Amino acid sequence: MSKNYIIYTYGCQMNVHESEKIAGILSSKGYVKCESSEDADVIVYNTCCVRENAEQHAFGNIGMIKKLKKQKKDLIVAVCGCMTQQGNFADKLASTFPYVDIIIGTFNIDKFGDILDEKLRSKKKVIEILDKNGEVCEDVTPLRSSYPNAWVNIMYGCNNFCSYCIVPYVRGRERSRKLENVLKEVKGLVESGYKEITLLGQNVNSYGKDLNDGSSFARLIDEIAKIDGKFRLRFMSNHPKDITEDVVRAIANNSHACKAIHLPVQSGSTRVLSVMNRKYTREQYLDEVEMIRSIIPDCAITTDIIVGFPTETEEDFSDTVSLVETVGYDGAFTFVYSPREGTKAAEMDGQISPEVKKDRIMRLVDIQNERNRVDSLKYVGKTVEILVEDYDKKKNAYMGRDERGRMAYFSFSKNLVGKFVQVEITSTGGMSLLGRVVSVEEER
Ligand code: SF4
Repeated sequence: MSKNYIIYTYGCQMNVHESEKIAGILSSKGYVKCESSEDADVIVYNTCCVRENAEQHAFGNIGMIKKLKKQKKDLIVAVCGCMTQQGNFADKLASTFPYVDIIIGTFNIDKFGDILDEKLRSKKKVIEILDKNGEVCEDVTPLRSSYPNAWVNIMYGCNNFCSYCIVPYVRGRERSRKLENVLKEVKGLVESGYKEITLLGQNVNSYGKDLNDGSSFARLIDEIAKIDGKFRLRFMSNHPKDITEDVVRAIANNSHACKAIHLPVQSGSTRVLSVMNRKYTREQYLDEVEMIRSIIPDCAITTDIIVGFPTETEEDFSDTVSLVETVGYDGAFTFVYSPREGTKAAEMDGQISPEVKKDRIMRLVDIQNERNRVDSLKYVGKTVEILVEDYDKKKNAYMGRDERGRMAYFSFSKNLVGKFVQVEITSTGGMSLLGRVVSVEEER
């Protein structure tokens, strides 16, 4: 009888893709994915420490598995991801949850199969946290779970040390994959029918700098442009200090690349940006937005914003609001600042009270929501190309996105997942679009 596994993933897309790699390792060992912990022989918690709520969620769930572990003595419980990589967190985890069998960090996730074998052989708890950068992972075939979308790591780690961020401490310095390996993976995915490829890195604009072989992000985009087939190319995330005209021109000239750039600003106040160690000013950021729009006039621009960063005054917050209004974002992920142990910002004087943070984020969200609502209305009556991603059972409709990332819902009598369809937008539901299918692209 086959053995089953289940993986719980917390945090960002990077982690979702790492879970696909762990799934690939487990499946190569004959394990089959199941839908509940009760049916599993191996449970993996792939944790995240970048945001406090993801960390608390993971901690709560690991605590709840104690009862099941008592009932199923052979059940293997493994915890990995960036939470385990922080300071002495692995030891704390091991003492709080003694029934956890395997604890590994972020640098040896590709060795998960060997570590599982060791646990099964020795029957002893395995804790393996490396304190140096891992290798660039090339020999694991992920078991992808998000057709028609596929995620491709182009680099790992980050050199930037933004004062609020734990990533450089838990994921190490920047390491780029070789250009030919990324191209081979992208080509293979397109050939096997994936329709949207997202290149992943903490700061994709730095891609290739560490390789010293002439590779760069712009060159990678140019090379991907030569791949035949209909597919969309996206990437995340950009650091505003590193985005160049070369990159924007490469996007403009690549028919696969979505004309959509995520450019996380974090704050509209130059003073706060400096305390955040972001290495650009409000003015430089606005110049970049202008540069992008001069090359790609209708480029969708989205962002991330942190509200309530230590020392943020009402005036600083007003700068953020005015920047949001000036740029006119197509979407914004807004976060309330939460201190992350081990970062400089967590130790700063001038922490902002929860009440002030809440008030500011609500004001900001209202402004962006109104912008989204008005932008959605502009779609009504137009026909847009949508890549169908899923069927939403609750809404009883197919769901997909346009090139700009705007979500649309519509009904159809046949399975459309993975197809490009023309949808006439008839109305809106807040930020999302509602419409009817006008035509379905024939397979070539
Ligand atoms: S660029 Fe800054 S926010 Fe992004 S991962 Fe690196 S340190 Fe964190």
